[in-house]
Amino acid sequence: PPATVAVVGRPNVGKSTLVNRILGRREAVVLDTPGVTRDRVSYPAEWSGHAFTLVDTGGWETDVAGLDARVAEQAEVAIDLADVVMFVVDASVGATATDERVVRLLRKAGKPVVLVANKVDGPSGEADALALWNLGLGEPHPVSALHGRGTGDLLDAVIDAL
Ligand code: GDP
Ligand code: MG
Repeated sequence: PPATVAVVGRPNVGKSTLVNRILGRREAVVLDTPGVTRDRVSYPAEWSGHAFTLVDTGGWETDVAGLDARVAEQAEVAIDLADVVMFVVDASVGATATDERVVRLLRKAGKPVVLVANKVDGPSGEADALALWNLGLGEPHPVSALHGRGTGDLLDAVIDAL
C-alpha cells in the first residue's frame, strides 16, 4: 500500500488549503462543512511518480473549550497512522503553545517530520519561516498554500522522507 502522509497542526494554519493545493482540487475544504466534524479524511495523492495517501486532519470547531486537548488528541491519532508527518505552522503568527504541544507529541512518536512554514505569501515572509528553526524540527519549508509558492520544494522533501 502507498505510504501515509498526515497533515497535522492547529486549526486555521492552512492544512486543508495545503491538501487542496497538493491534490489540485478543492475537495478537502468542501468536505469540511461547518458543524460536521470530519476528524480525518484521506486522499490518494502523487508527486514525481510517487503515490502516497494524504490525510487531512481537524474539523471546524476553532473556539470550543478544550481546543488544545482536541488538537493534541487528533494529532496523536494522525501521527500514529502516518509514515511521514507534515506539521503545518502559521509562520505569520509564529509558534504558539498549542504548536509546542504538538511538537512534543512529534518528538515522542519519532516519525519523520516535514516542517511546513505556511502563509509565507511573499519574500517578506521568509524571516517568519526562519524563526521556526527554533522548534527543533529541522528545516522549515516556507510555502504559501494559498498561492502555491514553495509547494514543489515541500513535496520533494516529503518524498525524500518517505
Ligand atoms: P485548517 O484549519 O488548518 O485546515 O486551515 P484552512 O485551510 O481552512 O485555512 C484557514 C484560513 O487560512 C483560510 O482563510 C485560508 O484561506 C487561509 N490560508 C491558508 N493558507 C494560506 C496561505 O498560504 N496564505 C494566506 N495568506 N492565507 C492562507
Ligand atoms: Mg481544515
